[in-house]
Amino acid sequence: MVDRRSVSIFGSTGSIGRSTLDVIASHGGRDAYDVRVVAGGANATLLAEQARAVDADMAVIQDESKLPDLRAALAGTDIDTAAGDAALVDAASQRVDLCVSAIAGAAGLYPTLAAIRAGSHIALANKESMVCAGDLVRSEAARMGVRILPVDSEHNAIFQVLEAHHAAAIERIILTASGGPFRDYTLEQMRAVTPEEAIAHPNWSMGVAISLDSATMFNKGLELIEADQLFPVAHDHIEILVHPQSIIHSMVGYADGSILAQLGTPDMRTPIAYALGWPARVTAPVERLDFASLARIDFEAPDETRFPALRIAREALQAGGLAPCAMNAAKEIAAEAFLNRDITFLEIASVVEHVLEGFANGAAAASLDEVVAADSEARRLAGLAVQTRAV
Ligand code: NDP
Ligand code: MG
Repeated sequence: MVDRRSVSIFGSTGSIGRSTLDVIASHGGRDAYDVRVVAGGANATLLAEQARAVDADMAVIQDESKLPDLRAALAGTDIDTAAGDAALVDAASQRVDLCVSAIAGAAGLYPTLAAIRAGSHIALANKESMVCAGDLVRSEAARMGVRILPVDSEHNAIFQVLEAHHAAAIERIILTASGGPFRDYTLEQMRAVTPEEAIAHPNWSMGVAISLDSATMFNKGLELIEADQLFPVAHDHIEILVHPQSIIHSMVGYADGSILAQLGTPDMRTPIAYALGWPARVTAPVERLDFASLARIDFEAPDETRFPALRIAREALQAGGLAPCAMNAAKEIAAEAFLNRDITFLEIASVVEHVLEGFANGAAAASLDEVVAADSEARRLAGLAVQTRAV
């Protein structure tokens, strides 16, 4: 058992947030973890339920119109409540041993950065923080002596098998990808897919946005950029390998030809438990991998013609600077437009590529203001592109 840790969870009502609370409950609950803040977007009922279950100090909801519901649901407790973007940043500015960053999308950057500036170590699920402002996040983390523990399953796998003392001998990182629900679809079939089909992931149970990103493979594109930020490997040494069963969560190859991999059933509670317990290993309530009943594991090269997101992400990574931030922002707008049936599935990538043309100049982003400006400009351009393409 590790010492009792203070923890705040941003995005507690989401898929990662709920899994985090599940791991906490199954591993010592309040004896092991002192949950200070739970924070979500709009689901006041669940947020209040969670705050009561862990006896949090504070519950914060982004949607200010839901604050009365949150207050009513927490009446009679001494749990503080607050709402809005500034309240999220304030709550993240209270130092804890570990801040779980699990808000969906670029909105997760602001509390993540606030938590780093407060000196809290970070369990990072919100890959967008690294994609939009990786240089800034890393330099602030270094300045504050804050450790970033990746929760994203691939990066968590790499973190587990990356021998930092052998950094010079690392030849490559192999990021595995399930290939999503349309792995075997022809371009013709992909043209007609519906939002319902696109958010039904074959292996992982996740939030809507990341499920759609897995279908376009923008998720793997974001993860490529996230890996480049997190690990000491040149970006042309990060490979993507399709592995439909999602058993090998990623690998690191070394100079002597050895490849180290982390394996497990596809359940986010394993990487979450790893980050919550680090440097100890704690128990996680997940199904154990049974090799004898695992009929086979397969691998194939990714297809950048059917999944242009992989090429677009690599180009954004090469361009550097604000290009990855713009790519993510445009992708968020295009994804929303697809979910609203304003554009087709294949048009998501076309919108992003169109927006990125204006961000090819890779001047490094120095400040949060520049990141915010690039994010808004890319959203504006993507909105225009959606309108002109809308069917
Ligand atoms: P979900 O959509 O399931 O949950 C998102 C969470 O963020 C919810 O708590 C939601 O609140 C909250 N939220 C959304 N928008 C805002 C906002 N503007 N301000 C504050 N809170 C907000 O997403 P996931 O849990 O699937 O993903 C979360 C992050 O983790 C993403 O960055 C994703 O890429 C990453 N990730 C997820 C994995 C997974 O298996 N799910 C795997 C690897 C990474 P509410 O629901 O109350 O509105
Ligand atoms: Mg992942």
